[in-house]
Amino acid sequence: MINNGLEKRIRKEGFRGDIRHAVPMSEITSLRIGGPADIIFYPLGVEDLQLVTAVCQEHGIHCLILGNGTNLVASDKGVREPLINLSRGLDAINVKGQTIVAEAGIGLSRLLRLCEANALSGLEALTGIPGTVGGALRMNAGSWGVELGNLISSLTVMDAQGEIGEMKRREVEFSYRGMNLPTDAVILRGEFSLPQGEKKEITKRMRHFLRKKKETQPLAQPSAGSIFKNPAGIPAGQLIEAAGLKGMRRGDAMISPLHANFIVNMGKAQARDILGLIDMIQKRVYQTTGTMLELEVVIIGEAELAA
Ligand SMILES: Cc1cc2nc3c(=O)[nH]c(=O)nc-3n(C[C@H](O)[C@H](O)[C@H](O)COP(=O)(O)OP(=O)(O)OC[C@H]3O[C@@H](n4cnc5c(N)ncnc54)[C@H](O)[C@@H]3O)c2cc1C
Repeated sequence: MINNGLEKRIRKEGFRGDIRHAVPMSEITSLRIGGPADIIFYPLGVEDLQLVTAVCQEHGIHCLILGNGTNLVASDKGVREPLINLSRGLDAINVKGQTIVAEAGIGLSRLLRLCEANALSGLEALTGIPGTVGGALRMNAGSWGVELGNLISSLTVMDAQGEIGEMKRREVEFSYRGMNLPTDAVILRGEFSLPQGEKKEITKRMRHFLRKKKETQPLAQPSAGSIFKNPAGIPAGQLIEAAGLKGMRRGDAMISPLHANFIVNMGKAQARDILGLIDMIQKRVYQTTGTMLELEVVIIGEAELAA
């Protein structure tokens, strides 16, 4: 846990952003679960970010970047590592011709709206994904066969030492819901060079994909999106459904009857309920199909005892 001395030092060295303490993760994750995060830094710019990571690094403290918290399962016991949220200081987005540069802290939805306004095409299938640009790049978010990683022309990244560098598309290896970035590196911004399209067509496609998403996913209920990665050749949801698990509950956590790869929070679900369902799904799907489902969501915070 970060102590007062460290925080004072970060302030003294000129940190300009906001710092919040004991923030319930249930208030800042889309699944609406999780105990308190001890401390969250909101850097006002890259210098602030470098300062926090340098001081933490010096003291051997590992920090975690928090996007919109839409792919996270946070422990009921909360999170001891300092969290860093980029939404207040790295939230610029600019368009020049067919190139858009989006900072990590802005919402993917804003990037999509700007593409639409400027008739730039390619990202429409990602409509409705609720993450930030940084989180969506880190996770190589994708939908209907389109992945964000394939659409960048370059990435600006800060390494654990605070060094900032640009990586061209060919230097970055994206994989299914991931990329070859060291865990302590931070994505600062992405540059997208997109083909010019017809605004009307782009709007039509965005509406079409959003409608499809609403029809097939429980968007009105708190969730973290797909819990598991799809194994090669078959959607994880189909395997879970085939194992007879749709609609199964543990406490207030339920395997969505609409989409079996979503676990929804029906009200007062806890992380231990979600983790219990995850464990049960993995075991049952393995027993029935021989496939071990791999997690897509990221589990953070102090370890839970198995429920
Ligand atoms: C209703 C719903 C629908 C969804 N649909 C989809 C979908 O169709 N396709 C899909 O792929 N995902 C989907 N998701 C999952 C999620 O929205 C994406 O993975 C999203 O891109 C995560 O972004 P985030 O900002 O919320 O990241 P977070 O959940 O906050 O973080 C995710 C991971 O990224 C890391 N991270 C965040 N920002 C940075 C950064 N700047 N630099 C380095 N690391 C960073 C975090 O440390 C963490 O490990 C859905 C989620 C929900 C709730």
